Order: sequence, then structure tokens, then C-alpha cells
Amino acid sequence: MSCCAPCSCGAIKQLADGAVPGVGDFIVLFYNPNIYPDTEYQKRLDEQIKYCEQLGVKYAVGDYNHDAWRIAVRGFEDAPERGSRCSKCFAFRFAYARNFAIQNGYDAVGSVFGVSRFKDQNQVDAAGRDACGEIIYMPINWDEKLRVSINRETDFYRQKYCGCEFSLRK
Ligand code: SF4
Repeated sequence: MSCCAPCSCGAIKQLADGAVPGVGDFIVLFYNPNIYPDTEYQKRLDEQIKYCEQLGVKYAVGDYNHDAWRIAVRGFEDAPERGSRCSKCFAFRFAYARNFAIQNGYDAVGSVFGVSRFKDQNQVDAAGRDACGEIIYMPINWDEKLRVSINRETDFYRQKYCGCEFSLRK
């Protein structure tokens, strides 16, 4: 699962190069109903698609159901980043990824949600393990040097907040 091109570029390159042990066929799933507003969502999606097409990798785009996401985090709107709202957000998106994997014949799910320095990898992994159920959750340590180097040489659109309206106003 990917949230944006600047965070996922290294991971996608590693996967495309066959450099992740235990992973063969893969698809980049962009499912980010947390992103607000819709114009910001579209910018991140456009960058994601451009990078996937540049590398020639498969990708899929989930529904942009922001109202459903708001219901999933209801009551936790004022929680800080790395707090309970983010756990709900990860769980909601991983649940979609699990269903997508089952419906499309994939047996494992991983993500780049922990790549940002504002996120807690342990929190992401806990949400992934809880949500994935019968699908394997792969907690992968992506190559940070590769990601930084691709970002240096690529003019990605780079957002200044995690994604939701509650991270935007902080
Ligand atoms: S800050 Fe980021 S991870 Fe946390 S709820 Fe908002 S979009 Fe989701």
C-alpha cells in the first residue's frame, strides 16, 4: 500500500528490481480516503500513477470514500499524530488492502505508511497485523538511502502534511 510517491518511490523501485526477499508479483495499491481535500488527493494520486508508469509496475486505485473514513475515525479527531486517530486510519486502510488482496489473488500486504518521520513504524505494523487476518502482513524495512536518492533526482510533488484535515490544521 502506498500513500504518496515521495514515500513509496524507494519501495516500489526495490520491488520492481526484485530486491525484496519473498516478494515476486506485486501491485501498488493506492487507497487513501484519508486525504483531504480532494484536490490534494488528486495531486498525490497523479504523482503516484506517473511514477508507477515510469517504472512499468502495476497499480490499482481504491475508492476515495472520505465520508466513510471520517466515520471510521469519529471520536478521535483531536488525537495527536501517532495517536489513536492514526491507528484507526491505518486499520481502515489495511482492512481495504486485505479485502483487495483476497479478491485479487495476492497473499500478502505491506505498506510504506511508516516511512515518514512523523509516523511510528511499530504502530503501523500493529495495525497491519491486526487487520490482515488470514492474509500475511509483511513488516518491511525499506531502503531509506534509496528513497532519499530517488527523491533528490525526481521532482515529485511533496505535500507538507500527512493527509487528513486534522493533520492539515496542526
Ligand atoms: S495524521 Fe495521517 S495517519 Fe493520522 S489519521 Fe491523519 S491521515 Fe491518517
